[in-house]
Amino acid sequence: MKTWVYIDHFQGQELPASWEAVGVGKKFGLVTAIVFGSGVEPLAKKAFEYGADEVLLADDPALADFRPEAFASTLSSLVSSGTPDLILFPTTARGRDLAAMTAIDLNSGVIVDAVALDLEDGKVVATRPVFGGKLLAKMACSASPQIITLRGRAFPKPEHQPGRSGTLTKVPAKAEALTRVEGYAATEGGVSLTDAGIIVSGGRGVSNNPALTPPAGLDEKQAEIWRAQQGFKLIGELAAVLGGAMGASRAAVDAGYVPYAHQVGQTGKIVSPDLYIACGISGAIQHLAGMRSSKTIVAINKDAEAPIFQVARYGVVGDLFQIVPALTEAFKKRLGK
Ligand SMILES: Cc1cc2nc3c(=O)[nH]c(=O)nc-3n(C[C@H](O)[C@H](O)[C@H](O)COP(=O)(O)OP(=O)(O)OC[C@H]3O[C@@H](n4cnc5c(N)ncnc54)[C@H](O)[C@@H]3O)c2cc1C
Repeated sequence: MKTWVYIDHFQGQELPASWEAVGVGKKFGLVTAIVFGSGVEPLAKKAFEYGADEVLLADDPALADFRPEAFASTLSSLVSSGTPDLILFPTTARGRDLAAMTAIDLNSGVIVDAVALDLEDGKVVATRPVFGGKLLAKMACSASPQIITLRGRAFPKPEHQPGRSGTLTKVPAKAEALTRVEGYAATEGGVSLTDAGIIVSGGRGVSNNPALTPPAGLDEKQAEIWRAQQGFKLIGELAAVLGGAMGASRAAVDAGYVPYAHQVGQTGKIVSPDLYIACGISGAIQHLAGMRSSKTIVAINKDAEAPIFQVARYGVVGDLFQIVPALTEAFKKRLGK
């Protein structure tokens, strides 16, 4: 089987899920990595070191910015001569965009956010969560090439083999596009939840510390946000000690406690860390949709009936304002920080 893997990057900085996709492709035989951009030859070298056998490199100033039309035209024009059976993309915003546009150009379909791939009768069968992660569906695409995006951290990252190399083929860019990138602005919060191995998340409960007295002059809403921000400092400290990222429920984001970049769930980020600690989060279905594939879930909630405990491996029934700082101190000691 001929497998191509699109290496997603932002200005030359790859997303680790790209290497996970290379590792998955190796299960089916030789892997060709697709590297598009400007000044991205170092990425091609890295692709070999993570297991690619061949790299198709379109290195052109016209591809400096990701524009799906240009990238999809470049990719689809290569498919006609390279005839891959399977094209894999990491499930990132760019990966999804490009997979969909490429599928349209190639008259194929896309299976999004697969968490397992198997070979059955010569066809790749993808397993993906449906109904907010409550069920796993198996599906294959009857068109060729099959186009599948893979959930980040759902597959192991292949071993890095420094010095490993392969066949580098330079290919032309097809850069015509109606869109032009005017510039970039960093999102508030600047967190990379999808790559994090550990996430400590806070919910509405993080604002619920009556022991704190807000500064004078704040109205009720401002006092709530002030309390929540003190609470999220505790969440952030625990995340920092564990070398993880800070997440949040939508209720916390909508209430203005933390920026949207932290939101986990159906309308936020879908995450699969090794460890997810949910603090003061009830476990609504839309939140679970974003984190139930975490390898180990710990829930801290003062309501023993909270639905989050149904998906948690470890549950602590109690006040997060006592438990979270105690955990931070214990981890500091244990980790020598
Ligand atoms: C279309 C749609 C999309 C949505 N998308 C998302 C999404 O992407 N992500 C998401 O999270 N939600 C999403 N939601 C919202 C979701 O339905 C819930 O409203 C939200 O997840 C609730 O957030 P929460 O658990 O923080 O708040 P709550 O449900 O209010 O829970 C707060 C919890 O904190 C606990 N608590 C309170 N004080 C303490 C304390 N001192 N110590 C310990 N525990 C305490 C309480 O017992 C309670 O369980 C979506 C909803 C809709 C309709």
